[in-house]
Amino acid sequence: MLGRIRQIAAELGAAMAELDPACFDGRSAGVLMEEFARIEHFGGAGKTLMARRVDDVRAFNPSQHRSAAHYLAKVSGTSVFAAEQTIRTSHEVGDLPATEAALRAGALSSVQAKEVAAAASADPSAESLLLSRASTDGIKGLKAEAARVIAAASTDENARYDCITRERTFRHWRDHDGSGRIDVRGPLDLTARVALALAPYEAALFAAAKDRDEPVNNAALMFDALVAMADASAGEMPKGSGPLPTVNVRIDHRAFVAGDTEPGEVCEIVGLGPIPVSVARRLADDAFLKAIITGVNVLTISHLGRTIPAHLRTALDELFPECAIEGCNVAWSLEIDHNQPFEARGPTALWNLNKLCRYHHQQKTRHDLRLVGEGTNKRLVPKAEWHPPDRITDRKRQGQPPRRRAFVAA
Ligand SMILES: [Zn+2]
Repeated sequence: MLGRIRQIAAELGAAMAELDPACFDGRSAGVLMEEFARIEHFGGAGKTLMARRVDDVRAFNPSQHRSAAHYLAKVSGTSVFAAEQTIRTSHEVGDLPATEAALRAGALSSVQAKEVAAAASADPSAESLLLSRASTDGIKGLKAEAARVIAAASTDENARYDCITRERTFRHWRDHDGSGRIDVRGPLDLTARVALALAPYEAALFAAAKDRDEPVNNAALMFDALVAMADASAGEMPKGSGPLPTVNVRIDHRAFVAGDTEPGEVCEIVGLGPIPVSVARRLADDAFLKAIITGVNVLTISHLGRTIPAHLRTALDELFPECAIEGCNVAWSLEIDHNQPFEARGPTALWNLNKLCRYHHQQKTRHDLRLVGEGTNKRLVPKAEWHPPDRITDRKRQGQPPRRRAFVAA
């Protein structure tokens, strides 16, 4: 089977190399596009069916990918969230023979399969109704029908509440247009508590806007209220939570002075993405901001103790906006790791330090692994396969800094 699928993929690849859309008249262009949609369905179906097996037998390298979803996200070029849904659908489809048959026949897109499987799992008697809706209705209609089926099937309110609690999430990302986005999902009483806490801030902002005789946009006002609440709570950090968290902005010194970036220069919130230089300059006085302005060599900084000096920390922030493991893009709660452990006489020097997400840090420590590779494209290997970097020690012996250049200011 593997050989057959590989051959089909190879033939498809060869056909794609020759495909010239301009050669088709209107009718055949439409027919061909429909064929590609069918191929897409088959591809999605195969991926969905295999995902369960990959998840069950953990057919991935745990030092590279923390779960089947992370693996699937990597090979599919999708978000981990989308991959998790595919795996959930894959497990659900196992108990839904009619849905699985439709999937195998190429009759369902991945989105349709997800909606049908989720609702039919909640109420298997609705499976054929959902499949017929999928074939005739648009996605919006199918989603509405699926939501109705799920709501009607939920007899145990407490179980549903517990499920929502277990799957609570907070996500923060930069959207394609450059705007910041936050998505919060969880039990309704708790999201209501957050929304209610905004009310006094919203009321104050509303009153101020009325005083100034400004038009009021309610949604925009709620956003401003959220920021005002965050600013107000910054002075009341929980006990033992350490220093005030900061937003790291990385910007070239020239750009910071000149007020705009030139090609090759950066101005970004570390881990999130680009922002205008004017915003970075405005933020420069802000207590939340730690500007990392490029310009000073930190590679010569080394330290005898285990504690990592501030200069070195700033350099690591610069070098590792995300986990050092290739393909792991986790940018929050990163931990500093001594590649050659401190206990094994590994020095607190930049060449021996990396930032890892909690998962990969734990994997490395638990199995006594070592990191090999460059920058944020490293991978974990057994201790025996790792050798101290001769190149660096040789150059150090000669009193020279390592060849790689990185510039960071304190
Ligand atoms: Zn990681």
